[in-house]
Amino acid sequence: MYTGRFAPSPTGPLHAGSLVAALASWLDARAAGGRWLVRIEDVDTPRCDPAAPERILAQLAACGLYPDAPPLFQSTRGAHYQRALDDLLARGLAYPCGCTRREIDAALAALGSAHRRHGERPYPGTCRGGLHGRTARAWRFHLEEHMEKRAQTLSTPAQAALFSIEDTRVHWHDRRLGWQSQDVARAVGDFVLRRADGPWAYQLAVVVDDASQGVTDVVRGEDLADNTPRQIVLQQALALATPRYLHAPLVRGADGEKLSKQHGAPALPAERPLHALRAAAQALGLPAPPRPAPIPQALAGWVAAWRDTYNRAP
Ligand code: GLU
Repeated sequence: MYTGRFAPSPTGPLHAGSLVAALASWLDARAAGGRWLVRIEDVDTPRCDPAAPERILAQLAACGLYPDAPPLFQSTRGAHYQRALDDLLARGLAYPCGCTRREIDAALAALGSAHRRHGERPYPGTCRGGLHGRTARAWRFHLEEHMEKRAQTLSTPAQAALFSIEDTRVHWHDRRLGWQSQDVARAVGDFVLRRADGPWAYQLAVVVDDASQGVTDVVRGEDLADNTPRQIVLQQALALATPRYLHAPLVRGADGEKLSKQHGAPALPAERPLHALRAAAQALGLPAPPRPAPIPQALAGWVAAWRDTYNRAP
């Protein structure tokens, strides 16, 4: 059965940009006659606002977007992520890393890798050969006075775990963007599954949860499209099904950047949900409903238009 989801990170209330992703995933599920779930992606707890989940659900409800099941909170799912991580570690597909950010920067600088503005720089592979190999190298190259401190740091178990990428060119299909391709080894390299300070990485959590919630269709903002190949290689490593993907257009601010909380996007105005929905539908290229259409009629019109555009039978 078609199962879609909207997976907000609760760093704040919905804004005009996140409503577009919510509306697109809801429309796709309704156009397919399927289920629509909400998953609160609260893995990065220091960045999360405890009041945000309730606020987000109230904002969705004001817009007539009701999930078909109570929301799933990623903060309750650690045991599932741990099982997946243990499996990858046991099979040698992931490995622990004890580097500090500064050490990674230094290794990259030594390789002549310049900082990329939006891109992530591939991990230099320092701990691929094992923490001990690295310790040996570190002891050879670092100043004597650092040795004692270093020995202490390394005697505590390193928790950051990385997924090991070999030569992997991933070809995948997006229902809006068409065929896509990424050389994951070159574009991102080995990537983090769990941070050394504890939080689970988005890539691992999203893959485990999409599978256990039976998500068949991921509909989300285009800014996440280049994460998809990493998620596909993880799905393959964990023998999980790959859902269909559709990456929706982004709402950009005057500076051309994606509208986001970090860029100061204001919360949706509570008193004008239809206005906010109209703007979101416009961003998705859907026709304006006749005025004055109440929210349920406007949504029904957009479901029909969405079905025409993305060709899904009900
Ligand atoms: N939590 C992510 C975000 O708010 C979305 C994750 C996803 O849809 O895969 O950007």
